[in-house]
Amino acid sequence: MQEWQNLTEKNPRYKLDEAFYERVRTAKARYKQLDSVVVPPGEGRGFVVRKGCTFRVIEESGPQIGSIAFWNAHDRRETFKAARTWAHEGAYVRPFAQMLSGEPWVRPMITCVEQTSVPEPGAEAYRPHTIGTHCSHEIIEMWFGRRARNSCRRNLLSAVEPHGLKEADLHDNVNVHQKVNVGDPVHGRIALAASEARAGDYIEFFAEMDLLVAVSVCPLGDGTADPTRGLAGVRPLRIETFETGFEPKPWPPTHDWRPAWKGRWARPETEDGAAPKK
Ligand SMILES: [Zn+2]
Repeated sequence: MQEWQNLTEKNPRYKLDEAFYERVRTAKARYKQLDSVVVPPGEGRGFVVRKGCTFRVIEESGPQIGSIAFWNAHDRRETFKAARTWAHEGAYVRPFAQMLSGEPWVRPMITCVEQTSVPEPGAEAYRPHTIGTHCSHEIIEMWFGRRARNSCRRNLLSAVEPHGLKEADLHDNVNVHQKVNVGDPVHGRIALAASEARAGDYIEFFAEMDLLVAVSVCPLGDGTADPTRGLAGVRPLRIETFETGFEPKPWPPTHDWRPAWKGRWARPETEDGAAPKK
């Protein structure tokens, strides 16, 4: 009998303090609200969330998918890494799941503290997930065979450009309020269905560091709208931010292997990643 190892449980660094996040979650009534903004169909918003604060992504008027991207507010090279997070936390975002940055940081950036509609075990419900990336004009044209009129990529870029980020800075994101299944045993492909989220449903994330967050209202609406026809069936998302009064738990530093590196590879010196001049 083959023995399978859970990569998250195998990781000795990963000792999630569930009691801490339970305290954060249950202190909700004492949170101080900082902001509340409605993101309309066809748009995105970028905003700063200080560490120890939370942001909520709320279904304003019915089922609506959102794409959420985030960066370290002080070093925008550090951003969410979907594949790394998938390997450590799973594909589904659930309460107390942590979203990690990529190398050389590899640490929690946000932790989910609340999800108002949690699927019953085995039931097909909508689930936020980390692996579907975001829709782009190019992908929509591949899916529908017609020119896209809006996309999450465009919305996310319009959200972060006022904060100084460019297209090359936008990589992975979390998808919220989406009904998704990753159970394909042959190819591991993902499948989508219409979201069953209701008005008022929300998912909430605790900021483990100062963050720049971008939210897009996906032109796929509940997952079934046609983004080549316009914004029919696309609903707004409300974003609320809160001061929780909790300091994030410290994350232990990783031992840096670079000083002992004897290889010949060298980090590119130029901004655009081109090889350094000899
Ligand atoms: Zn989208």
